Amino acid sequence: MKILVVGSGGREHALAWTIAKSPRIQTVYVAPGNGGTALDERLQNIDITDPTALADFAEQEHIALTVVGPEAPLAAGIVNIFRARGLKVFGPTREAAQLESSKDFAKAFMKRHAIPTAEYQTFSDVQAAHDYIAQKGAPIVIKADGLAAGKGVVVAMSLEEAHSAIDMMLSDNKLGDAGARVVVEEFLAGEEASFIVMVDGKNILPLATSQDHKRLQDHDQGPNTGGMGAYSPAPIVTPALHARVMREIIVPTVQGMAKDGIPFSGFLYAGLMIDDEGNPKTLEFNCRMGDPETQPIMARLKTDLLGVMEHAVSGTLDKVELEWDRRTALGVVMAAYNYPETPRKGDLITDIPAETPDCVTFHAGTTLNNGKLTTSGGRVLCVVGLGDSVKVAQKHAYDAADLIHFEGSQMRRDIGWRALKR
Ligand code: ATP
Repeated sequence: MKILVVGSGGREHALAWTIAKSPRIQTVYVAPGNGGTALDERLQNIDITDPTALADFAEQEHIALTVVGPEAPLAAGIVNIFRARGLKVFGPTREAAQLESSKDFAKAFMKRHAIPTAEYQTFSDVQAAHDYIAQKGAPIVIKADGLAAGKGVVVAMSLEEAHSAIDMMLSDNKLGDAGARVVVEEFLAGEEASFIVMVDGKNILPLATSQDHKRLQDHDQGPNTGGMGAYSPAPIVTPALHARVMREIIVPTVQGMAKDGIPFSGFLYAGLMIDDEGNPKTLEFNCRMGDPETQPIMARLKTDLLGVMEHAVSGTLDKVELEWDRRTALGVVMAAYNYPETPRKGDLITDIPAETPDCVTFHAGTTLNNGKLTTSGGRVLCVVGLGDSVKVAQKHAYDAADLIHFEGSQMRRDIGWRALKR
């Protein structure tokens, strides 16, 4: 059986690696893939990114199923294109992907369906936004409505920062169309967790819990990034909290989307803020898996992912039960020099250790050229260690990461600290 994975990041490497374990797999194509997917002989990169050209490829090659990793092609309607041609694809339609691609859509949806989230208002008028902020005070959060590749959220600790974020988005159009409307929302304090489920339009299959580390440096200092490391399971999500998140957030979201006539299928990711009393609120929805959460989650999945995907596209996820490695998986991101500003490309990467039962390295911003592996993006690798405790998983990840070399590499040394503190 041939499968197509769309994307080029660490998430897509981990998805393709997991799907390729299925005994029924002939080839897993990755479009466009990266250096890691090029090195894995079970995977094959194809240099296509245009959604219509990908649908042509899927038709010609008799691809049994396509999985879309990143948000941009989903928001551009790749699933609509595939479905219109009768091709099996796992992911939300353009309309359903608005849960991620428009923060205003997501907030209005949550309000309409009484899903717990921060109070907010949406603005396109500069003065009205400034007035609202002056009235509410700081801290306060300013979010560009559209997709801005992680650059669209300003958590303003002072009024000055808040006003300048409004100017940056609404007056200076620094984020283009994505920032033509802004959501201004209440600041929520607490601890974040990632809650990811698979949805087939109706049935919900929760994946293992996880927690990401957004800031560049140790002790959660420095600028926000796409994510510098993650681990699974996340002990903050106790069975009681899990049940509550399903009841108050996930189930109403899936039912609400169906009721609104835009049923959601695909990976649904709720970014949660859990306050000191343990109450969860929704910070954001993503219509795809998280990166780097996917890497440790997939490292723990024991069930054949191909079979799960087949149920997902047939609307029978209720027939699936997932089996997880009981160990903790902990992924450490190695980022390029000068990430997240303007990451340097072209540094030679050497000494990536071979995969073992305790450790696997997923690639993101890497390119393979004439047998040489070089950096080609901000987040370069995610080294995942597995162990019977967070501490052991952490040791396996760092022992392997410390062997790997490229000039100017950056990584946090404290991935997993919240779980260790518990
Ligand atoms: P991502 O790259 O995760 O998709 P995004 O650009 O869609 O991010 P959000 O996840 O909404 O943006 O926000 C990014 C980060 O900003 C969150 O992970 C959280 O740390 C912080 N944040 C967002 N909203 C709030 C809030 N209301 N209160 C406090 N912090 C917040």
